[in-house]
Amino acid sequence: MGYYAGVDLGATNVRAAVADDEGTVIAAHERPTPQGPTGIAVTEAVLDCLRSACSSASVDPSAVLTAGIGSIGPLDLAEGAVDNPANLPDSIDRIPLTGPVEQLIHSDRVFLHNDTNAGVIGERFHSDRNPDDMVYVTISSGIGAGVTVDGEVLSGWDGNAGEVGHMIVDPQGRRTCGCGRDGHWEAYCSGNNIPEYAEMLYEDADVDTALPVEDPDFSAKDVFDYAGMDAFADHVVEQLAHWNTLGVTNIAQAYAPIVVHVGGAVALNNEELVVDPIAERVDEYVFNNVPEVQLTSLGDEVVLKGAIASALTDGTGDRTRMRR
Ligand SMILES: [Zn+2]
Repeated sequence: MGYYAGVDLGATNVRAAVADDEGTVIAAHERPTPQGPTGIAVTEAVLDCLRSACSSASVDPSAVLTAGIGSIGPLDLAEGAVDNPANLPDSIDRIPLTGPVEQLIHSDRVFLHNDTNAGVIGERFHSDRNPDDMVYVTISSGIGAGVTVDGEVLSGWDGNAGEVGHMIVDPQGRRTCGCGRDGHWEAYCSGNNIPEYAEMLYEDADVDTALPVEDPDFSAKDVFDYAGMDAFADHVVEQLAHWNTLGVTNIAQAYAPIVVHVGGAVALNNEELVVDPIAERVDEYVFNNVPEVQLTSLGDEVVLKGAIASALTDGTGDRTRMRR
């Protein structure tokens, strides 16, 4: 039997798992992502996680045939590294990944993807119909997508295809995105931006609300917690649904997916308030065939499961390409 490994490198945690040739996880290991001093410390943490998962599975790392990595970006695909990650301290400039993992498992078959591409690979692999045309959208601290079209996982020449959080949804550009540009989808709807967007709406509306908009700890969670009990909170949720529907509509027009899976903490924690409204409205907006919109079935393990699926299918999630 062959063994396969997957890695989920996030800004907060590193996870690694070893799976059998069906993709069933034998053992996994998780640890916090080092916040410095340099990128090499993060590389070491990834290798440590892989070694620990192998050790728990009683598998020598050299018995792992292939590995998949789903990582925070931006990626330097040619060098197999993360380059100046946006969500880690500035002292972390470069995180080598592919080369060191190849050395550990004694194989040159290591597939590196950004985390949303790993997400769509996982969704594709684990979907009943194994569709060729689908999208995974994450709505969490940021917003992004992984896309497969005609069975090809789109990465773009630099690995940054699917950065849909920076699509302009508001031509008036009232909110400035973390990237410095105006009107971007994630400037309104990501977990990090919802509080400030709600504050802007509050100034516009000039209404009474129980929502603690002026509290320094005011968070996206508050908005969803007050929904159904507070008219202003409902208004914010309604506006978020509007922008999210525009974002998903633009994705559907561009890529013609059969299904759009939505994940990320904001969606996972608020399916009825975040995912269902998109599913209900997208029909009104999309001119192409209307995709099914649903919550990810892989929960917060979607990136790790996608990384394992990538290892099993030469980086595609296509089950007909499983290596046995
Ligand atoms: Zn942006």
